[in-house]
Amino acid sequence: MQPRDLSAQTVYRAGKGVEEVARELGIDPDDLVKLSSNENPFGPSPAAVDAIRAGAEHASSYPKTSHTDLKAKIADHVGVADEQVWLAPSGDAALDYLARAVIDPGQRVLVPTPGFAYYPMSARYHHGEVDEYELHKRDDFVQTPGAVLDAYDSHRIVYVTSPHNPTGSEMRLEDLRTVAEETGEETLVVFDEAYVEFSGAPSAVGLLGDRDDVAVLRTFSKAYGLAGMRIGYAVVPEAWANAYARVNTPFGVTELSCRAGLAALDDDDHVEKTVETARWAREYMRDHLAARTWESGGNFVLVEVGDAAAVAEACRQRGVIIRDCSGFGLPECVRITCGTREGTKRAVETVNEVIAEVSA
Ligand SMILES: *Cc1c(COP(=O)(O)O)cnc(C)c1O
Repeated sequence: MQPRDLSAQTVYRAGKGVEEVARELGIDPDDLVKLSSNENPFGPSPAAVDAIRAGAEHASSYPKTSHTDLKAKIADHVGVADEQVWLAPSGDAALDYLARAVIDPGQRVLVPTPGFAYYPMSARYHHGEVDEYELHKRDDFVQTPGAVLDAYDSHRIVYVTSPHNPTGSEMRLEDLRTVAEETGEETLVVFDEAYVEFSGAPSAVGLLGDRDDVAVLRTFSKAYGLAGMRIGYAVVPEAWANAYARVNTPFGVTELSCRAGLAALDDDDHVEKTVETARWAREYMRDHLAARTWESGGNFVLVEVGDAAAVAEACRQRGVIIRDCSGFGLPECVRITCGTREGTKRAVETVNEVIAEVSA
């Protein structure tokens, strides 16, 4: 036999890991600057590292208490009831939980282009079909309600990313509200706030107070530095509380991840340092890169470099790993994650050298 027809499924191509690239280049991994996946350049909170070490002894038990505790702590952190937090083994998994909860086979979803690759993947895994709304480069990828609503046709889910990956553009809260208001009662609007910590903008969680057709996505992978632990969550309307038990993969978030998440949420200093440095880095990049950049609310900057594949490869040869945005439909752009001060300066210097050479 064969699997079902998977031809519409796109393959997610993750960037290579530091060790792999270092091995290829024959250099020490510590000499590489990896700014391609929007990870935290400071690593996890030291408190989370301690919690993971200490948690090793509990690895024989299913995550029970730690899961309950983490849900409660997140609920407190965002200001909702515990049941409104759909804890999941990554933000991507939380997107799957939402799709499981609302998509009937053949229903359509609306995703941004350029945009985050996992929205269409998740919808298709759940037998949904995908339409796109465009964020235009000629308008600096501005996110207006019109950009979304012009393409809207009673879709079952509408995805909005703010700050947006890979462009960094943001949608204002009143515009998010307009999108929720102007779409139908049977449309779920998912506001993806994977990068919200880096933005000064208010969260869309406030919209859940008087709406039952909005969900907010968050992750521990970016500001909290726990990409390798795979923890994320959706904040859902109060009325949805009971559905969690029907869509949650039992014990999906591991014991070690729950403990790491609990510790990370308590380490305000680590998040503050991370956010402060990212804000410095995105301004530094915008001021010092010899190329067009866009304002970013996230921990990364989109840069127009000409031939992105060539520039990213030449940077890699020099030990600086950045994201070629061809896969996002922007073959002339790269996305550079905010690094430490040292890492960011080295990346800017390297990219500028490479651009000068490529255009010479
Ligand atoms: C990183 C990211 C996520 C979630 O990532 P996970 O590592 O799966 O938690 C969600 N949305 C966007 C736009 C992202 O960039």
